[in-house]
Amino acid sequence: MSALSASKGLHVAHKAVTIHLFRYDLRLHDNPALTASIAAAQKTSTPFLPLYVFDPAQTSKASPSRLKFLLESVSDLRSSLSDNLCIRVGDPATIIKSEFPNSNVHLQSEPCRDERLASLALDATEHWGSTLYDLSDLPFSSLSEMPDVFTPFRTKVEKNSGIRPPLPPCSLSSVSVHDCDKGSVPELSSLTSSPLPPADPRSVLNFVGGESAGLARVNEYIFKLDLLKNYFNTRNGLIGPNYSTKFSPWLALGCISPRHVASQVTKYEKASVSNKSTYWLIFELLVRDFCKYFAVKHVDEIFMLDGTLGRQAHGSHHNSIKWGLDVGYSNSKAEAWKEGRTGFPFVDANMRELNATGFMSNRGRQNVASFLALDLNQDWRYGAEWFEHKLLDYDIYSNWVSWCMAAGMTGGRVNKFNVVKQAKDYDPEGEYVKLWCPELKDVPKEYIFEPWKMSKDAQERAGCRIGVDYPERVKEMKVFQPRTDRPKKDKKKKEKYKGGFYKTIG
Ligand SMILES: Cc1cc2nc3c(=O)[nH]c(=O)nc-3n(C[C@H](O)[C@H](O)[C@H](O)COP(=O)(O)OP(=O)(O)OC[C@H]3O[C@@H](n4cnc5c(N)ncnc54)[C@H](O)[C@@H]3O)c2cc1C
Repeated sequence: MSALSASKGLHVAHKAVTIHLFRYDLRLHDNPALTASIAAAQKTSTPFLPLYVFDPAQTSKASPSRLKFLLESVSDLRSSLSDNLCIRVGDPATIIKSEFPNSNVHLQSEPCRDERLASLALDATEHWGSTLYDLSDLPFSSLSEMPDVFTPFRTKVEKNSGIRPPLPPCSLSSVSVHDCDKGSVPELSSLTSSPLPPADPRSVLNFVGGESAGLARVNEYIFKLDLLKNYFNTRNGLIGPNYSTKFSPWLALGCISPRHVASQVTKYEKASVSNKSTYWLIFELLVRDFCKYFAVKHVDEIFMLDGTLGRQAHGSHHNSIKWGLDVGYSNSKAEAWKEGRTGFPFVDANMRELNATGFMSNRGRQNVASFLALDLNQDWRYGAEWFEHKLLDYDIYSNWVSWCMAAGMTGGRVNKFNVVKQAKDYDPEGEYVKLWCPELKDVPKEYIFEPWKMSKDAQERAGCRIGVDYPERVKEMKVFQPRTDRPKKDKKKKEKYKGGFYKTIG
């Protein structure tokens, strides 16, 4: 429409604008999607608008603690952008279409259902981001060729692909920022009616959202405290800030980039030491990539009860499980799991930590997921949804793929964790269990992970009566009876099942 017709009031012209819609890329450093958005604004000589929309479809699923971390992250981004970040609350597509109808929207590609639909509704230009290895650098002609098991995926990727160096930090100096009401960061109380729980002194770390705090933690962990060199040996710990990196909440929202972490590891290796620990952090970031690429490959199957097994899960596959879900009555096994009162101290301690702080170690996550799915035989998605609500580091891909795998619904080897043995190995003194289950603090070491074995006298002496001070064990354990024989038809493919397809861990 010409300026003349506009001036005659034929209809109101909307100035073209290039929008970068931030979602899980809340940073300026090494941000391929933001870099591309700014370049697009320069190329088309259009004003540029960095935008974040608090979408109730997403925020309504998050705990107050996760929302607080998100609000801090968006506030930090806004100050890094000199208050030029535009903020809205509502459905992103509706807001953009009504307020900025003549816009070209750019965003980081998020291939799971809700995010994909939002992008389609906006006809947005998607840019790959958030992974260590770029999608276009993977050694597969398409993701359908990607192995469904991590080790062959890793071997191929490590052998044939490289990690790109991080991109320089973005700045708005080369574009003119679109002139509009920039809105403000909402109050926590406007996003949730649930109160923010008080900070728990037992929390592994005081997590503060945002790129600034995330970069500071990377620097602290690797250089200031010099912890990286021992990461391999400490990573299965349970208590305190330093047994693992705790980068995950910042990685999940994109406050830090995995390539930035990799570049800092390389810098450390050159300056200090290169060993199994320095390699292992990159290894874990590759596990994270695997989850995202697995989710892209299998699209929405990771949200389904039968996972990627589909119909095979109904009897013909050796991982077949008939799922139950017993919520809503007093003996509910699933609710006992959720609330940390299963009567299994290692499970309860981990669930209580999650509920009080929004964090749980990787060791804990593997155990509680295995316990819910394979011991209690409960619909594993109940657990995945609870994690989605509670985890500060909730990441669609890592969470749903890890749960689907823990339940055996991706067809790979099922790792069933023996939670008592695991507790003995990883919490030998019962220190972690006593931290989160203080009612067990005087229980002797021999009973700390199996308090139901105490005689009545021993219970009295320990000041812990089972069924009164600490819960009885949830009933009906070991429902999942996996086949331990190798199915006949798979005999020919022995190498495929190297190490067995079912393993008890612990
Ligand atoms: C059932 C289940 C659910 C999980 N849900 C999530 C989730 O929602 N978000 C999430 O970030 N991680 C998830 N994980 C993976 C893992 O437990 C966490 O990434 C890790 O505990 C975070 O602590 P950290 O940053 O100190 O990890 P570190 O041990 O320091 O590892 C460094 C980084 O590598 C990545 N990483 C490490 N282990 C894994 C893994 N097994 N899978 C994927 N990435 C990994 C993370 O980004 C992590 O920050 C889940 C694991 C399980 C078993």
